[in-house]
Amino acid sequence: MNALLRRLFAARSPAGTGARLSTLIFHRVHRQTDPLFPDEVDAARFDRMCGWLAAWFHVLRFDEAVHRLRAGTLPERALAITFDDGYADNHEVALPILSRHGLPATFFVTTDYLGGGVMWNDRITEAIRRTDQADLDPASLGIAGLRRLGIADLPQRRFALQALISAVKYLESDARMAAVEKIEHACGGNPPGPLMMQPEQVVALNRAGMLIGAHTKSHPILARLDIEQAGEEIAGSRRVLEELLGVPVRTFAYPNGRPNEDYGPEAVGLVAEAGFEAACTTARGTADASTSPLEIPRFTPWDRSRLRFGLRLARHARDTATPVVPVTA
Ligand SMILES: [Zn+2]
Repeated sequence: MNALLRRLFAARSPAGTGARLSTLIFHRVHRQTDPLFPDEVDAARFDRMCGWLAAWFHVLRFDEAVHRLRAGTLPERALAITFDDGYADNHEVALPILSRHGLPATFFVTTDYLGGGVMWNDRITEAIRRTDQADLDPASLGIAGLRRLGIADLPQRRFALQALISAVKYLESDARMAAVEKIEHACGGNPPGPLMMQPEQVVALNRAGMLIGAHTKSHPILARLDIEQAGEEIAGSRRVLEELLGVPVRTFAYPNGRPNEDYGPEAVGLVAEAGFEAACTTARGTADASTSPLEIPRFTPWDRSRLRFGLRLARHARDTATPVVPVTA
């Protein structure tokens, strides 16, 4: 089956000027399946996926892949593996698996959370995970648009988490933090321990041959910020990482990453101004030589079977995404 899939991918993404780059996006790699998010990737599943990717693709670092895409020198079946946010499990769980398969990857790190921070969505998750309350009334916590949510058992908790995270995501930053604190208070638990990488773990990833990219300082929705704030989020995260690593940081990923909804043309301009050479979005698709290097789309199939995973990758291998900044040349 591997030989057949390789032929299929080679037909979809040949070498040279007709090449297409598939870029996969991951966030966490849990040690074991998280019962609250059973569909998220765990170590065993990531190991299987890496085995398939190593057998089917030429896996490149994101910076090299984009450079060669622009130069028309990509090998056939080119693919880049990326991780967003900077979870500690990227270093503790994903790195040994990637190394075992000889695969390079690129890690986009949110710098304010380095060294003990917890992202707002994880604070909600951990509050719900640890609570002994049976329900939660979002309206009484100032979260509009949601009815009383049961949180007594796993199915209820999964549903409640999805509803709460979607409701809180697009609040303005102060309102979002206030909502998170109220949820934590209502759930009555202790705050979770650190989930994100320590600075030394970012350094270790880099020393192991992995590429480190920036992902803003605090993971805001860039399209909701004024231009000065957005500029500081983008350039500031680069400064922190360059100081930590002592090497230039030239790649970036837009938080949340949906064109127009999460970032607009202003953010793309700021990313260029800050000196980034390649950036990725979460628009679904693959890139060709005409794709802007500052808006590289990504896509990961979540199928658990090898054939379905492979066929879905092949099916989307010629999808294009619409950039927020029109590409002229
Ligand atoms: Zn992110």
